[in-house]
Amino acid sequence: MYLSYVLLIMRGCIVEGCCCGDDFCASFYTQPKPKGAYGPGHETLLLVTGPPGMLMLDVVDGLISFIEVLYRPDVRRKLIALGLQI
Ligand SMILES: [Zn+2]
Repeated sequence: MYLSYVLLIMRGCIVEGCCCGDDFCASFYTQPKPKGAYGPGHETLLLVTGPPGMLMLDVVDGLISFIEVLYRPDVRRKLIALGLQI
């Protein structure tokens, strides 16, 4: 449930949705999408949220750059409503 609040707070920080096309994906960029892979300053932090869903933060040079949200259709619906996900 709190993930929905995170999305609400982050709404102004969302640069663009992931748009990978996977129906289980509700991920979004909070920094401009990189051209190619992230460099050596990239790390992924898996947050323990418990089911349902998975939440990971991709941090690049100390900045949260991509928030991976998987298996959360409620979040995906919100992103679609905001025009940020396909
Ligand atoms: Zn995706």
